Amino acid sequence: MVHINGDKTVVDGNGLVTSLPAAGEIVVFLGIDGNREPWFACRSTHAENLKDLRSLALEEVLPDWQLGLLAQARSLIHWHERRTYCSNCGGRNEIADAGYRRHCPSCNADHFPRTDPVIIIVARHRGRILLGRQTSWASGMYSALAGFIEPGETIEQAARREVFEESGIRIGDVQYVASQPWPFPASLMIGLIGEALSDTISIDARELEDARWIPAAEVLLMVERRHPQGLWATNPMAIAHLLVRTALQSS
Ligand SMILES: [Zn+2]
Repeated sequence: MVHINGDKTVVDGNGLVTSLPAAGEIVVFLGIDGNREPWFACRSTHAENLKDLRSLALEEVLPDWQLGLLAQARSLIHWHERRTYCSNCGGRNEIADAGYRRHCPSCNADHFPRTDPVIIIVARHRGRILLGRQTSWASGMYSALAGFIEPGETIEQAARREVFEESGIRIGDVQYVASQPWPFPASLMIGLIGEALSDTISIDARELEDARWIPAAEVLLMVERRHPQGLWATNPMAIAHLLVRTALQSS
């Protein structure tokens, strides 16, 4: 039983704390591991030994499968916390199917956890890579551009629209690289590399503080944290890091 309190879980020196939940708390089933041990998650009001999930991922103290388990737990608990009432009739609904459905006894509606697809893309053009940064990011960090897929869009259309809206750059070919669940609260990051058709940047200041074409050799210095001006590119745990590295290998 892993404990989820907002974006945090409970750990001790040896790893996840797996004690029983408080009475009446939300509990969901996560699955069965390779040793045939069942795993559950509960909402927790534990106030001690809390650890932020992003920090846990960065510190690499837990095995990958447990980080995946926490992502699943965080998304599901977050969904239940915000779905006490039916979005169809406003009645109180209840947990069903071990946490993968909520059922409304008033109007008989079923509600399911959702995943929101997000494209994240590294564009390139003649040996350079397009990276941007938001004001809220850590100082000096640049990363891939990203945005939610809108209703009715394909992945490719969303990628071209987002890059154009944020940076003014037109994208032609789009190639899928990999994906990453991002449980803050329930996204699936779809990682892409795009071939730019134009290179004149015009940023949308509501979305980005800066966007620039950076020569591949300089991007490598940013990835390896050896850039002379202290610029750097993405946390190693983020899919953007993989995209930048992949774009560098093939640019
Ligand atoms: Zn209802």
